[in-house]
Amino acid sequence: MQLSIDLTGRNVLVAGAPDAARQAVRRYEAAGAVVHRVGSPEEARLVHVPERLFLVAAVEDGQNGWGAFLDRCRNAGIPVAAEPAAGPAGHVTLVGGGPGTGDLLTVAAVKALRDADVVFYDRLAPYQELPLLTSAELVDVGKKPGHHKVSQSDIEKLMVESALAGNNVVRLKGGDPYVFGRGGEEVAACVAAGVKVHVISGVTSAISVPAAAGIPVTHREVSHMFTVVSGHAPLTEKEHHHLAGLGGTIVVLMGIGTLHQLAAGLRRAGMRPDMPMAVVERGYRPGQRTTIANLGTITSAAAGCSNPAVLVIGEVVRVAEANRQHAGAAADLDMLAASLLGS
Ligand code: SAH
Repeated sequence: MQLSIDLTGRNVLVAGAPDAARQAVRRYEAAGAVVHRVGSPEEARLVHVPERLFLVAAVEDGQNGWGAFLDRCRNAGIPVAAEPAAGPAGHVTLVGGGPGTGDLLTVAAVKALRDADVVFYDRLAPYQELPLLTSAELVDVGKKPGHHKVSQSDIEKLMVESALAGNNVVRLKGGDPYVFGRGGEEVAACVAAGVKVHVISGVTSAISVPAAAGIPVTHREVSHMFTVVSGHAPLTEKEHHHLAGLGGTIVVLMGIGTLHQLAAGLRRAGMRPDMPMAVVERGYRPGQRTTIANLGTITSAAAGCSNPAVLVIGEVVRVAEANRQHAGAAADLDMLAASLLGS
């Protein structure tokens, strides 16, 4: 978490053992303060408390003996603020960041970000909000200068090296780390390097992006299963047949580039051309857009659609349409009522 106070040019003394104090130091530096350090009560005994200090940040580092020094500060009229100690360092947390809005971060994700020293993030995660959530160093591994993606093995190397150097590393990923997120590979890389790692699940776009368009992936008496498919590469004919035979909702991620092959493949496999389909682009972001068509018309209807987008195939798309019309009708009635009442 960042401090929301501007301390530009103010002298702040951070009292606490170096490891425990590292995040407090970063927070005060990020707020513009000139940070002075005292690492132990023994060192503090030798410190002359300058009157020009704006604040003393006392880190709860578990060392006994800070009392006398902090009393001296208070007696000199300097406010003393308690600061939580940074957690143990040298591990990696894979954090699911949800579909791209800070509102859909979990409480655990927010806490992990607050405690991080370094965050390696992807562009699908809610990265624009990171400066409000953490004072950690922020590293964009979705793109680097020249717009080349950082390779997966380089990301793994960076994470491991940073943790081995003693940092609390957060790897912030879009959606859920284990849904087409290469989370399993990143965990394996940490384990192989002897780095402690844990995973915080996130809200996957497979469910939340259809929801943003009002589409429930299951609905009583309409669909009692949903299958999440990667459209990164075209499916095989056998896979088209399996999918067409399932009868539930099909959710496709990374499917814009292969939309044509998928629609044609499902039709060859016997799916009705009037099966409803939706393309939901940029869920929860500015410019969110939903295109609704059916299996037979989707290729032309979605010609202008781009990534990131989630495709939904199934009768549940009609549920959203019905709800939308109902909501629209309700809104019309509200307006009618308002005009009749003269408000
Ligand atoms: N781990 C992620 C998925 C990564 S694959 C998750 O659980 O959500 C990347 C794909 O996710 C994109 O190509 C797109 O299909 C989908 N996606 C992620 N965020 C999205 C968003 N805000 N709007 C639309 N699609 C999104």
